[in-house]
Amino acid sequence: MAIDRHINFFELQKACAGPGCPLCRIIADRAERYIDNMLFEHISDRGFRAAYRAAGGFCGFHARNLESFRDGLAVAILGRDILEDRLRFFRARKVRKPKGRCPVCEEQDRIEEEYLSFLAGADEGKKDDDGHVRELRQVFTGSEGLCVPHYGRLLVTPAGRSRPVPRWLREFHENRFEELLRLTGQFIELSAYGRQEEFAGLPEDEKRIWKRLAVSLRGGM
Ligand SMILES: [Zn+2]
Ligand SMILES: [Zn+2]
Repeated sequence: MAIDRHINFFELQKACAGPGCPLCRIIADRAERYIDNMLFEHISDRGFRAAYRAAGGFCGFHARNLESFRDGLAVAILGRDILEDRLRFFRARKVRKPKGRCPVCEEQDRIEEEYLSFLAGADEGKKDDDGHVRELRQVFTGSEGLCVPHYGRLLVTPAGRSRPVPRWLREFHENRFEELLRLTGQFIELSAYGRQEEFAGLPEDEKRIWKRLAVSLRGGM
């Protein structure tokens, strides 16, 4: 196993131990580290500054915590570029169209694809697998599995290409989603008037299945 694949493996293993979609967790952690790293170490990196300026800054989601960052200077340097641009457009009464995407969103897409292709390659019996696939399969099937958007992107790449996926991974997700569908149907049926007693007898997590459904459909942390 190559070194970067080892890193993928250990990060997935760690993420599988927590609640929710392991890939959403990895992406959220890595995005946070990326922002931190850019603000503290690469603030003078021309490539990053240019991408940031072209995008008109981070998107609303990734800019949400900037005012609580420890280092105000980095936020000020980046923000000055953006405000200067905005002012020029305000004065000309023009609408500024961003020329690039939020650099963190770009980075997230890259990480997502890296892990999805890693997972798609986790087929037992491969020459270079050293037993890692079996271990990954064990921890992965003990986790909540991928959210609906991530499973969708595992099957079909953003470019619309269908991706071969190991059977264990497909069966695990399809069974999970079918179970979620069944429990959701049960929740709706027992919510009807006159079925309060049956509803009251459900296990707590089945009474709150709509929350798990909402998170699974949305993805993200
Ligand atoms: Zn996810
Ligand atoms: Zn973003």
